[in-house]
Amino acid sequence: MRPNLLILAGTTEATALARAVADRGLQATLSFAGRVAHPADQPLPRRVGGFGGVPGLKAYLHAARVTHVIDATHPFAAQMSRNAAAACAEVGVPLLTLTRPPWTPQAGDDWIRVADIAGAVAALDRPRTRVMLAVGRMHLADFAPNPQHAYLLRLVDPPDGPLPLPEAEVVVDRGPFTADADRALIVRHGTQLVVSKNSGGSGAYAKIAAARALGLPVVMIDRPETPARAEVHDVAAALDWLAHTGTDRGV
Ligand code: NAP
Repeated sequence: MRPNLLILAGTTEATALARAVADRGLQATLSFAGRVAHPADQPLPRRVGGFGGVPGLKAYLHAARVTHVIDATHPFAAQMSRNAAAACAEVGVPLLTLTRPPWTPQAGDDWIRVADIAGAVAALDRPRTRVMLAVGRMHLADFAPNPQHAYLLRLVDPPDGPLPLPEAEVVVDRGPFTADADRALIVRHGTQLVVSKNSGGSGAYAKIAAARALGLPVVMIDRPETPARAEVHDVAAALDWLAHTGTDRGV
């Protein structure tokens, strides 16, 4: 049977995979949560919006006659990854995760490691300072208990309402970013502390390299737990899996 791939997207890895899949003329659909107002152009058909939990995803896999799923969501999109693992196991569709390895500290890094967003909020319970808060729009409200800081926020879309933080400068940019540009941004803002998810990858690493170069501490949020799973870190390995993984689930 000809493979019919579903790519759970929203990352540069998913976009790179989509390009490679389209170049090979393979049948595939990209799935987006719909969080970004103007998603980048994609070379494959797309669907947008949640599936409706595990039952909704199972129904979609059946209806769309999906033969393979590649979960290329962000490492912090843990709910989607858990749902994909459960739905694929229940329906019998092979699932692969394409993800970036986490960053590890290098000489000169000053990381304060925390387990989750709540840990980062607790780490900011300190006297006023200037903070680059790089956690994404969805988590800004979590930091409302620390209104004393002057925040620098980088967002993909302009805010669509009042921010939950009283003193915040917003930079709208979707990256990828460079260490030189992030260093200039951090210096201009007077940032003294960076807060980041351990997203991995090169584009988002710029602020970490810039913090190291400037001797600034980074509150680094560890990745959420995900189910045990087949995982690769590059597009070539994902294509190899697609070529060598059976499709006989009788859709
Ligand atoms: P999440 O918490 O794991 O997912 C929450 C719900 O959003 C899921 O249960 C699912 O709804 C829906 N969803 C998530 N990803 C989807 C996808 N690719 N296609 C269809 N529905 C999806 O996810 P999140 O952290 O909000 O991330 C949302 C999207 O943004 C993901 O595609 C992710 O790759 C991207 N992203 C996230 C981050 C981050 O830091 N979290 C950073 C960059 C990009 P249903 O249960 O209704 O199916």
